[in-house]
Amino acid sequence: MRLIFLGPPGAGKGTQSERLLRYLRIPHLSTGDMLRSAIAGRTPEGARAEEYMSSGQLVPDPIILELVAARLEKPDCMSGALFDGFPRTLGQAQALDDYLQQHGRPLDLVLELRVPDEAVIKRLSGRGRTDDRPEVIAQRLKAYWSQTRPLTDYYSQRGLLETIDGIGSPDEVFDRIKRAVDKRQSSRTKRPLPPTN
Ligand code: AMP
Repeated sequence: MRLIFLGPPGAGKGTQSERLLRYLRIPHLSTGDMLRSAIAGRTPEGARAEEYMSSGQLVPDPIILELVAARLEKPDCMSGALFDGFPRTLGQAQALDDYLQQHGRPLDLVLELRVPDEAVIKRLSGRGRTDDRPEVIAQRLKAYWSQTRPLTDYYSQRGLLETIDGIGSPDEVFDRIKRAVDKRQSSRTKRPLPPTN
């Protein structure tokens, strides 16, 4: 199964991704993790990305697309993937569509984890990551609403979007996610088979 996890920073994507990965046994493609390890490894991409990340802005598409393309070439991604924090712009979404279409690997589902800004700010303020300072949080939320949230329309028009209420205990939220994933999986297996002759 190939699915995208959309949602503002601090919506609980990290916690829920871990559960979903255990449930579906597919590789995790988190561009945030890839960028943080590029910075730690002092790669040229890491050096270019760092200034954007530390100010809460999105890293330019070409850097992101290069990282993702390299990851998607690995054999473990052939049968499925959980895209976490990617795509974040319409350009990234279109590039992903093109790539998956060319390789005959369609997307199955886009989950939008919906949490109001007030709850996000409260959660992020307690996390202690370097880009969790109040002014950086504000910028990251702004980037989400202006550049990433429009992707929900893009995927809803393609019949791929499921919106999940992100308020509640981790177990409650995961139950909602599991229901959406199971529903999609059973509708996939019920697709009529092509005629044999
Ligand atoms: P995350 O861990 O997903 O919250 O990402 C942390 C930061 O990395 C973001 O605030 C962005 O600066 C950058 N980043 C991660 N993924 C992307 C992406 N797909 N496009 C652009 N910037 C990204």
